[in-house]
Amino acid sequence: MKIIFDFDHTLFGTRRLYMALKEAFEKMGVEDKLFSETLRKASGRFGFKPRKQIKMIAEEFSEVKYEQLEAAFEKIINKAEIFLYPEVSRALGEIKKENELIMVSYGDKKYQNEKIRSSKVIPFFNKIIVTQELHKVSELKKILGEGEKAIFVEDNPYALTEAKKAFPQIITVRINRGEGRYAKTPGNDKIDFTITNMEEFKKILKEIHED
Ligand SMILES: [Mg+2]
Repeated sequence: MKIIFDFDHTLFGTRRLYMALKEAFEKMGVEDKLFSETLRKASGRFGFKPRKQIKMIAEEFSEVKYEQLEAAFEKIINKAEIFLYPEVSRALGEIKKENELIMVSYGDKKYQNEKIRSSKVIPFFNKIIVTQELHKVSELKKILGEGEKAIFVEDNPYALTEAKKAFPQIITVRINRGEGRYAKTPGNDKIDFTITNMEEFKKILKEIHED
């Protein structure tokens, strides 16, 4: 069966990446307030653009150069594997044996691809798509045949809800890691399961396969 996974806050601890970035910039003298403000301004409709943030910081705070900040950013992004949630690699390796795994990730293409590549999850997936569409329905339309059964694992309840409306046969699984902007969003009847990690997902998958 096709299993569609989101990336940020589903497989990847994006919050920890931001914290690492903040800490590295702080050591270079960048204050908390400037970091938060520029992070927000560099996060538009199409996702966060780190180099846009770096440019804004360098313009505001002349004691540090763009190149220095970018080097610090790259050092962190290059070890992105450490920000995967701890059970993810093992679980994906197991699930991959009997299913077709597809990642559909929302965000800035360049940045998402950097994160995904250096987190070393590429070998687990049959296909990886980065989209600028927050609810991902157009991408799902390209992936799924008419009435094709599939599972969609996401932390964004809005994306799950829209997916269920467009594809009633989809099994929607909300993963709530307790972080990310949707952690406190209430659930709804379009969400079939709610879990907190991939070990729980493996149990659900077993039930689905036994049905
Ligand atoms: Mg997400």
